[in-house]
Amino acid sequence: MKVTIVGCSGSYPGPDSPASCYLLEADGFRMLLDFGSGSLGALQRHIGLYDVDAICLSHLHADHCLDMCGYHVARTYGPAAPYPKVPVYAPANAPVRLSAAYGMPDEPGLETAFDFVPLTPGSFEIGPFTLTAGLVNHPVEAYGFRVASGGKSVAYSGDTGECDELVRLASGTDLLLCEASFIEQPDLPTDLHLTGRQAAEHAAKADVGRLVLTHLVPWNDQATVLDDASKGGYHGPVELARSGAVYDLA
Ligand SMILES: [Zn+2]
Ligand SMILES: [Zn+2]
Repeated sequence: MKVTIVGCSGSYPGPDSPASCYLLEADGFRMLLDFGSGSLGALQRHIGLYDVDAICLSHLHADHCLDMCGYHVARTYGPAAPYPKVPVYAPANAPVRLSAAYGMPDEPGLETAFDFVPLTPGSFEIGPFTLTAGLVNHPVEAYGFRVASGGKSVAYSGDTGECDELVRLASGTDLLLCEASFIEQPDLPTDLHLTGRQAAEHAAKADVGRLVLTHLVPWNDQATVLDDASKGGYHGPVELARSGAVYDLA
């Protein structure tokens, strides 16, 4: 399994990265985890525009799903349209929410390009991947994912505050893509996002092989995020996510 960070900017695109989007590839199958603002452009540095076989949306905040709108245009009106529908695993209200974002009626909505499948907690197969979705700790219906293929596994936090379910999803994985949106300071809001220290604490409890800090908010000093992570008791490799970074888990 190969993991490419397409976008890792938290909350909005930054000068060096789109918002959240991760490309997972195995056996020629290509799946996106999230499709946030700006990621459709950067995605085309890595694969062809029409080479996406499945999409999973962790939740429906704009920085995780808004480029579904542009991709709908590409697949509905592109030169060789109609293209095969792409399965989209997402919270159940995704068709209505994304139609509204696009500015079209609910019917037919974006379903000319996509087959929406409502996410629920649990495990199922998507191409060569076994995906496990679990509810995480964020103000809207939000999922974290564990994805396994060929004996390798990766976990993705989505957006979450401190969360036992994230530890369970990430347990023993080779790579944890964990959000670190906040800098350590007193009186941070709870049940929303993690600091670098908290991300590292989750990585330690889950005993993951590598921790990549992501959902990096551009107004933060990222060296401080990384320094915070050094205080979380995790002793494996830790680094900041970077758009274009590739992790080959084979
Ligand atoms: Zn977010
Ligand atoms: Zn969010």
